[in-house]
Amino acid sequence: MSASDDTTPTVEVVDYSDLRPCPPLPGPLYVDDERLPPNFWSKVTPEPNTGCWLWFACGSADGYGQSFVTGRQVYAHRLAYIVLTGHDPGALQLDHLCRTRCCVNPAHLEPVTNAENSRRGRIRQVTKERHAAKTHCVNGHPFTDENTLVRTEQGRSGVYGIRRCRACNRERMRKLRKLRRESA
Ligand SMILES: [Zn+2]
Ligand SMILES: [Zn+2]
Repeated sequence: MSASDDTTPTVEVVDYSDLRPCPPLPGPLYVDDERLPPNFWSKVTPEPNTGCWLWFACGSADGYGQSFVTGRQVYAHRLAYIVLTGHDPGALQLDHLCRTRCCVNPAHLEPVTNAENSRRGRIRQVTKERHAAKTHCVNGHPFTDENTLVRTEQGRSGVYGIRRCRACNRERMRKLRKLRRESA
């Protein structure tokens, strides 16, 4: 992305309120719903923690690569959305609210305009850059190699690495131990 080569974040307030968990659905959705053929479902693996329905071609180049042939070739997530919600998004794009591009669960998809989709992409990018640009924790300890723990977490914008401050961690553990001693 050449437009974002400038490392100064251009969006000041990051507002996630528009990232609704899902559009209104006609009812609960099930894997193995008979409205889609068995050779569709045989390529789907439900992920219990996130609720994502992972399409088998997860590792493909663009992350989508989800074409499924039913007389015409369509993206699997689009096909699942159309068939299971009964709503054809037409010219709208289906935004993955779960940030998992290979997910075909219609509850994780929201029809949005191209402009809205790229606006959300920019917000997510800026948020990522702002976090990465922080040099100190909230308590002012530096994020040096020795003082930084990196943990992988699953958030609403996908899997990402979270930096934790070791000094703050130690302090938290110390307080916890003290509390346990006092209540023992
Ligand atoms: Zn999902
Ligand atoms: Zn700290």
